[in-house]
Amino acid sequence: GVGVDAVALTEGDLDRWLPGPGTTDDKYSGGLVGIVAGSPGYPGAAVLCTGGAVRTRPGMVRYAGAQGGAVLARWPEVVASETPDGAGRVQAWVVGPGLGTDDRAMELLRFVLGEDVPVLVDADALTLLAQHPDLLAGRAGRPTVLTPHEREFARIFPEIDLADRLRAARSAAATSGATVLLKGHRTVVAAPDGTTAVNRSGSSWLASAGSGDVLSGVIGSLLATGLEPWQAAAAGAFLHGRAGERAQAAGLAGASALWDFLGRPAA
Ligand code: AMP
Ligand code: MG
Repeated sequence: GVGVDAVALTEGDLDRWLPGPGTTDDKYSGGLVGIVAGSPGYPGAAVLCTGGAVRTRPGMVRYAGAQGGAVLARWPEVVASETPDGAGRVQAWVVGPGLGTDDRAMELLRFVLGEDVPVLVDADALTLLAQHPDLLAGRAGRPTVLTPHEREFARIFPEIDLADRLRAARSAAATSGATVLLKGHRTVVAAPDGTTAVNRSGSSWLASAGSGDVLSGVIGSLLATGLEPWQAAAAGAFLHGRAGERAQAAGLAGASALWDFLGRPAA
């Protein structure tokens, strides 16, 4: 169940946390998010994740990986490169959706985790983290967000009982030092210091392929704009869920439908 001390986000929280760009802003002050996602088997994950990032309106999105062609065909505003090294000025990284778990994926993950900016780890990169616990330990002191669904969670934290999702996320955050967003109906977001939110937006409309890939792009964008990891994760879950509600109300299907409903009114 939902603990009495878990926060439930409202539209008012978002308004306070997400001020629009002002007259003195430029594309760098708006936040630069880097996306490492996709592989020959899963080009769509790169496109979905990048779309989540672009539509959350950062200053700029960089894509690093093998699917730059597919990404640029849908998102021409993105700057693409084969590898993340040399992608200067990135203020937050997202790594994992559709990335695969081969040696190349591992190399990309290692690079990103070595950077001093916030890193969101999702999907295949979570599987790699479960296989190499030293990687997460090496992030100590640097902001890290993990966004597992329950099966991914069980791989990384096999000793934590998932029966109580709120306690599970808190315990995982406390032991790992990362902000943990445990996905599902009523997504839970826990910070290492115990601060916890339960998201109330969204519906089972979101239970379809690719929806999580969009979420990680959304949160990466919010990290790049300077939100604290717990705020970025909680606000991202809220925006993503609300986009799902809007897409459902519009009678649409498919995770890419989320893109069109992520927007907020301009400040
Ligand atoms: P993933 O498992 O990575 O594709 O992510 C699925 C996304 O959909 C997450 O944001 C989940 O919280 C959301 N989701 C999945 N199933 C449900 C459900 N039954 N009700 C609400 N949200 C869901
Ligand atoms: Mg996923």
